[in-house]
Amino acid sequence: MLTTTVRPHNATIKMGASIEEMIGNTPLISFQRVTAHLPENVNVYAKAEWANPGGSVKDRAALNIIRNAEREGKLAPGMTLVDSTSGNTGIAYAMLGAARGIKVKLFLPANASPERITILKAYGVDLVLTDPLEGSDGAIRAVRELVAKEPDAYFYADQYNNPANWQAHYNGTGVEIWEQTEGTVTHFVAGLGTSGTLIGTGRRLKEFNRDIQIVSLQPDSPFHGLEGLKHMESAIKPGIYDDTLADRNLPISTEDSYAMTLRLAREEGLLVGISAATALVGSLKIAEEAAAAGESATIVTLFPDSAAKYLSHSPWK
Ligand code: PMP
Repeated sequence: MLTTTVRPHNATIKMGASIEEMIGNTPLISFQRVTAHLPENVNVYAKAEWANPGGSVKDRAALNIIRNAEREGKLAPGMTLVDSTSGNTGIAYAMLGAARGIKVKLFLPANASPERITILKAYGVDLVLTDPLEGSDGAIRAVRELVAKEPDAYFYADQYNNPANWQAHYNGTGVEIWEQTEGTVTHFVAGLGTSGTLIGTGRRLKEFNRDIQIVSLQPDSPFHGLEGLKHMESAIKPGIYDDTLADRNLPISTEDSYAMTLRLAREEGLLVGISAATALVGSLKIAEEAAAAGESATIVTLFPDSAAKYLSHSPWK
């Protein structure tokens, strides 16, 4: 067990720091009970991404997307940031936009969860609710039409195709994991949404040591309850996704993930989101394989967010 893995995410904050300085450098946590069956030389750790100020891993991507666009002149003063997400990225844009004085306009299907709509409204976002029957594709089409009409007024952040998304993890998450494990990490395991987390972190870790195994996780079917994750075969493939990077891809079921959310809450005191439980289910599979083969392993995964936004639906009710 490593002893020097925890670095408080706000360790560098001085008086007068901004919320942007609270993004990244998240703690790397270990487990008491869910890993108790593993031998001493097989360890599992998770980056606690809910410690970011917007409550999720997506603060990293959103901040880098905004900084990059400002640097490249694509987001000039007075312009509005626009995108089509009801998820964590939307919340991150909303938080950063409020803090920086940037207007944010988001298109989302009208059936987005009430918690998310309320959070976005709280940050003062201009919300446009699109036809729920058209799903997220309908929201994307609406954004594209708006930007095509008035290209000088809007910056289309487009997290699925914007390299600043994965680069946030290449410059942040990947380096943090290497440093926090003192270079001992053997596996990195992460679920695929936009794929920014897996691609950016995976690329960086492979540069540090090409033997580090990169494992992607996906829902095991197109119809699933793993919010934030994509079944790539049946979804629109994100432009930033590179399906040759991961050494392995594991399908994970909604049932196993739901069961693990309850174990994490009740056995570890970790009330985390569903995709965090998926991340642990996948990581334990890798850990159990290593144990069965008599190999040592230091497996690192990432817990994207807490359960806060999902409380109105299963599995906790
Ligand atoms: N889990 C949750 C809860 C998310 O919101 C996201 C982002 N869609 C992911 C996992 C996947 O992260 P990424 O977009 O970096 O692949």
